[in-house]
Amino acid sequence: MAFSPSGIMSDLDRILYSAEEIQTRVCEMAREIESNYAGRTLTVVALMDGALFFVADLLRKVNLPVHLVTLSASSYHGTMASSGEIRIQWPASVDFAGKDVLLLDDILDTGLTLAELQKRLSEQNPASLRTGVLLTKKKPRTVEIRADYSGFEIEDEFVVGYGMDYQGRFRNLPCIGILKP
Ligand code: 5GP
Ligand code: MG
Repeated sequence: MAFSPSGIMSDLDRILYSAEEIQTRVCEMAREIESNYAGRTLTVVALMDGALFFVADLLRKVNLPVHLVTLSASSYHGTMASSGEIRIQWPASVDFAGKDVLLLDDILDTGLTLAELQKRLSEQNPASLRTGVLLTKKKPRTVEIRADYSGFEIEDEFVVGYGMDYQGRFRNLPCIGILKP
């Protein structure tokens, strides 16, 4: 069927994952997390704003006690390529020592963001530290890192929707797609 978008979808060239496909995969990830952390309490560190929708949907499907900490980290400063410089707004009074920490982000791209956060969190002696992303880009990483939980592997293209923006827009698209050139 031809893709004939309207409204907020009209800037998309194509859809990579529909809202339904995302929900199906997020449910599978929730089951995987539940079985790995059975009987424990999760401390989720969610990177805003990109992971907002992913984390909201995922955590509501995880049947475990959860503490949620949100952090702001940015490496794309209004562009389509990582600047390589990670800005993190660290929470003032959260103690991660002895906690089962799960770090969640929207996309694993160069790896700089997750690696930096992983380093900062591991310095605080959590009982365990795992990472999860909705999307992993198929490309060589600037730093060697892979996510313990990953929703989809995608080509090295700039995506928007389901929390992910271009210059602050498109976060509220229900699907994930590629913008028109
Ligand atoms: P990394 O540090 O791995 O290079 O980049 C991770 C961050 O860059 C993600 O949290 C995400 O905010 C942003 N990012 C990477 N690729 C894309 C993309 O294709 N689209 C959007 N909107 N953001 C991206
Ligand atoms: Mg991000």
